Amino acid sequence: MARYTDAVCRLCRREGQKLFLKGDRCYTEKCAAGRRPYPPGQHGQGRTKASEYGSQLREKQKAKRYYGVLESQFRSYFDVASKRKGKTGENLLAILETRLDNTVYRLGFAMSRAEARQLVLHGHFLVNGRKVNIPSFLVKPGMIISLKEKSRSLDKFKSAIEANAFRNPPRWLDYDATSLTAKVTSTPTREDIDLPVEEQLIVELYSK
Ligand code: SF4
Repeated sequence: MARYTDAVCRLCRREGQKLFLKGDRCYTEKCAAGRRPYPPGQHGQGRTKASEYGSQLREKQKAKRYYGVLESQFRSYFDVASKRKGKTGENLLAILETRLDNTVYRLGFAMSRAEARQLVLHGHFLVNGRKVNIPSFLVKPGMIISLKEKSRSLDKFKSAIEANAFRNPPRWLDYDATSLTAKVTSTPTREDIDLPVEEQLIVELYSK
């Protein structure tokens, strides 16, 4: 399965904002987006204002990178979103948000979406009591996500849960910290998604 393997801090600097791709480092002063707040590369500090197309492209890249999705999958999500009722941009974000790897991250089991993806791939999570090791699996209202019994004693989960204890899961997830399970209560709305992106620009880009 193809995935981005280059330095991820470049992506934040390219988008001009923190995308929180590196876990706890993102919350420290070592964050490259804070230390070097300009695009990477030789001409990073000399770039001029983006064109309309450039702005649309940047919003699409930002969303892709935030969720760790490559172009072909992102495009197929867009096609699904455009066939659903409602606003295509918001449908697109709801699809991305309900990926299992993002859900695991939102629940605080991982420090970053990349780590959540690994944990899902390694089979640490159950959906409705059955192992699901597909990061792109889309959770739906009524589904129950839980950490596998055997995985609960692993140090990585203990520390991630402790470190993320302050983080409130989004309201579309009803999380029970005692049983380490969560029920999907609804489809996330735009207000539930803190992605700093103008999704309408993505719709305009793909509608050309
Ligand atoms: Fe982005 Fe995190 Fe790197 Fe900062 S430390 S540039 S937020 S990936």
